[in-house]
Amino acid sequence: GSGKGTQSSRIQKKFNISVISSGDILRQNIARGTKIGKIAAREIERGAYVSDEIMIELVTKELQNKQQNWLLDGFPRTIAQAIALDDRLAMTDRALNLVINLHVPEEVILQRIMDRWVHVPSGRVYNLSYNPPKINGLDDITGEKLTKRSDDNPETFKIRLQKHRSLTEPLLEYYAKRNILITFHGRTSDEIYPQIERELLRRFGAGNLGIDD
Ligand code: AMP
Repeated sequence: GSGKGTQSSRIQKKFNISVISSGDILRQNIARGTKIGKIAAREIERGAYVSDEIMIELVTKELQNKQQNWLLDGFPRTIAQAIALDDRLAMTDRALNLVINLHVPEEVILQRIMDRWVHVPSGRVYNLSYNPPKINGLDDITGEKLTKRSDDNPETFKIRLQKHRSLTEPLLEYYAKRNILITFHGRTSDEIYPQIERELLRRFGAGNLGIDD
C-alpha cells in the first residue's frame, strides 16, 4: 500500500529494467488456480505472509536467467528471504546494489487501499481518486473486469501492518549495515517518484540504466 507497485512500473517505463513483483506472481497463481495459488489465497486473505520456502522458490526461479537489470518488488520481506536471496545471487557472482524503502504515513496507505482496484492478468492498478479507469470497473487496455484485492480492507490492513513491523522492518537494519539502503518519504507516488529517478541516475548513470544521457 506504500505505492511500490506504482514506483516499480514507473521505473520500468523510464529505464531498461525488468520488474519481478512477488505479489503479482502470487495473484497470477491465484487467478490460474494453481496449488501455490490456493495456499497464497488463504494467507493473503488473512493478511499473513506466504511461507519463506514458497516465496524463495518462486522469486529465485524468475531470477535464474535474467541478463537485464532487474528490480524486485515486494521481495524479500523477511530476513530468511533476504539471506536466501543473497546466497542465490552469490552463486552467480551477483549482489544487490540498492534497496529502496518507501516511507508513507499509515492513514494515507489505508485510504489508498480502500480506493484501489486491480486488473489481475496484467498487474495494472487503478486508484479511484487519482488514477481512475476510463470506464468504471473495467481495465483501460483490455476492457476486462477490475477486481478488489481480497486483502484491501481495514481489518486485513491492520494485520498486514503488524506483519510488516515484526517481519519486514528488521530488513532495514540488515541492508543499512551494508550501506545499500535508501529511504524516501512522501504522501503520494508523484511526490516520491522524482526522488527515486534522481537517485538512480546519480548512483548508476544513464548509460547503465539503458537510457540516453
Ligand atoms: P503485495 O502485492 O506486495 O502487497 O503482496 C500482497 C500479499 O502477498 C502480501 O500481503 C503477502 O501476503 C503476500 N506476499 C507478497 N510478497 C511476499 C513475500 N516476499 N513474502 C511473503 N508474502 C508475500
